Amino acid sequence: MRKTIALVAHDNRKKELVEWADWNKEILTKFNIVCTGTTGKLIDQTLNSEVNRKESLYFNITRLKSGPLGGDQQLGALIVEGKIDIMIFFWDPMQQQAHDVDIKALLRITVLYNIPTACNRSTADYLISSTLIDKGYIPKPMDVDDYLSRRIPL
Ligand code: PGA
Repeated sequence: MRKTIALVAHDNRKKELVEWADWNKEILTKFNIVCTGTTGKLIDQTLNSEVNRKESLYFNITRLKSGPLGGDQQLGALIVEGKIDIMIFFWDPMQQQAHDVDIKALLRITVLYNIPTACNRSTADYLISSTLIDKGYIPKPMDVDDYLSRRIPL
């Protein structure tokens, strides 16, 4: 089954993510791509460019809201629903963001649901070149049984 990859980058790292996506475009044709709004616009312009179309390279890109407008939360919800297989999120380690709490929530949910996540280019390179990419790998979420069966004092 076709896997879905989420691509997100903060403003200072968008150029790097667009370059990475362009470099890996052949393999990205195999994925459904989900992006936050502004990242998605740039990824769409690059991957679905005329040059690529002439080479019969097509990319299925879904754009969510822009990150600070709720896009990170939309992405988190997709992860909870089991609709994202891999996340590449180039967040900016040098600048505070208006939506820092949303970013923290998104990264938390990727750990909880055991979603392969790359926050820098070298990890993204390792992920995309993994032999598991073409296999039906289903990540096992963290065990939350103790949490669900905890006693609530009433
Ligand atoms: P953007 O959002 O792609 O709309 O810029 C990215 C983010 O900060 O989550």
